[in-house]
Parts: sequence; C-alpha cells; structure tokens
Amino acid sequence: MLTYNLLYLLIFFFTADNQHVNLPPTQNQLVEETIPESKPRPKIAITFDDGNTADMPGLSLDEWNGQILSHLDRFGAKAIFFATGGQLNSPKGRAMLQDWNDNGHWIGNHTYNHPSLNHEQVSLEYYKNDFLKNDPFLARYSNYVSLFRFPYLKEGDTKEKRDGFRLFLEQEGFKNGHVTIDGSDWYINSRLLNRMKRNHQADITDFKNWYVQHHLERANFNDSLATVLTGRKIKHVLLLHHNLAASLFLDDLLDALVNEGWEIIDAMEAYQDPIYNHSPQTLPAGGNFLRALSKEAGIYGKLFAHAPEKEGYLKNEMDRLGL
Ligand SMILES: [Zn+2]
Repeated sequence: MLTYNLLYLLIFFFTADNQHVNLPPTQNQLVEETIPESKPRPKIAITFDDGNTADMPGLSLDEWNGQILSHLDRFGAKAIFFATGGQLNSPKGRAMLQDWNDNGHWIGNHTYNHPSLNHEQVSLEYYKNDFLKNDPFLARYSNYVSLFRFPYLKEGDTKEKRDGFRLFLEQEGFKNGHVTIDGSDWYINSRLLNRMKRNHQADITDFKNWYVQHHLERANFNDSLATVLTGRKIKHVLLLHHNLAASLFLDDLLDALVNEGWEIIDAMEAYQDPIYNHSPQTLPAGGNFLRALSKEAGIYGKLFAHAPEKEGYLKNEMDRLGL
C-alpha cells in the first residue's frame, strides 16, 4: 500500500515540481552535483497533546515523563505541550506541567475537557467556554503561549462553528497550533500498554522499530506533500501524545529523523513559517494541515487514493507483526 502511495506522490511531485523550478534541468543538475550541501533540509518541531498523570507498567509518572524531557534535551529541542486542564488539574498534573515549563518547553491550550468541535452536540458557545476554562489554569505557567490545538484536530463541521471559533481565537490573540505530521502513536501506545501490562520487562524492540518506521514514513510522505503544495521546504510540526511510547521511543525516533537528514527545531520557530498564516476553507474543517490545504487545492483525491492509513491498515499490519 505504502509503495503505491509514495510512487503516486513521487510522480505527482516530479510533475508539479517543474512549476517551482526556475533553472532548466541541466543547470539544475549541475547545481545539485557541485554543491549538494546547499540542498535544503526538512525541518521538524515536536509537540505533545493531552497530558497523562498515571504511572505506567514498571515506571512511575516522574520516571516516564522525565524520560521524555531528557530525550528532548538530548536533541536540544524545545517542544510545545498542548495541555488539557481537565486531565492535569491535580497536584501531580500541575507539578508535571511545571517540569515542562521549567525545562524551557512551551505550553499551549488544548481545551479543558477535550471536546470535538465537529460533534453535532458540541455548540460553539460550549467550545469557547471550554477554551476559556483552560486558559486561567494554564496562565500560571510562565511559558504559556497563545497557541491553540484543536482536540482531534477537528475545527468545525459547519461554516458557523468553523468561522465563529476562528474569529474567537483571533479576538483572544491566539493562533492555531497546526499539525503537518501526525500518526497513530495513540494506537501503537495502547497496544504497547497491553503487552507491558502482561509483563513490564517484555522485549519491546519490535514496537520501537514499528513506532520509528511509522513516524518516519509519515514525516517523509508529508514532506513530499508540502513540497508539492508549496515548492519549498517548510517547517513541519509533528503531533505526538504524552504517553509511554514517547517515553520509550522518542530518542530512537529523533535519531532516525536526524539520520534521514531532518533537522530538529524548536516548536515556536516552526510556527514562524508563513504557511501557518493560511486558513483552509474546507468543511468539515481541520485535520492534518497539509491535507486540508490539498483538499482546498482540489488535489486531495489524487494524492490520497492509496493512503496507507485507510480503515484497518494499522490494525492489520500490527496484527500481522504480532504487536
Ligand atoms: Zn488531544
């Protein structure tokens, strides 16, 4: 499935890329051959969503959360933690978030109760109030920044909700904490937990390899997509969840990204990229930002006809691998 996906995208990429290249092919080739180091590297920033204060099999909250922080430190990467107050408004949760703040990471708003704006029973007023409920909870942290991440990346199922909340965010001085690379780390994590609950010392090398490969594929695919859409290298934002998988595998994922030529950057730097000033006029709104842009551009169907994450793909692959 993935091969088709990449192949299709590559064909599209080479076709579309001509629109953005000014040099004739021969000259362009020459430039690449003589100064290969001038080739721009893709950049990626790391963000975390939600917030979990539970102990994990074999690891206390302090231990597993501390491991995420040290992985980030090792790469000198400052992340944004998009926090859900309802999950973190406890002595443990507040102390944990304080650790992130004191390690130089930023904190963004992810609502208090994690509702979906696309749910027909979630009104615009309720959603605004849920944002406002989280705001004073997060305001106690000095690195709280004016960025909002929509739960489930759902930005509204109607024009009224979509435009109403966009206007509200603007009035509050907030920007959308867009995502250009997302995977199913939450699903991998749930299956990892199943294994580790049975035996917290179980060998998890296969899970690690799968987690790394899954995110690398997503990163490379979305970087090709961004190049098709913009004709340049953008500053990507990766969405991960605050969970055991990140604690155990983030350093391997970051190593793999660096080995593949990615540059890890600070999350606030990523949002300086002008691509994030655009608000796609799609409905239902939201999802991965690059997908929304390709839907708006009318090329979504072509690009995602063979998308690897079709219904059941991940489950079938993980079943097959015994994960
Ligand atoms: Zn979330």
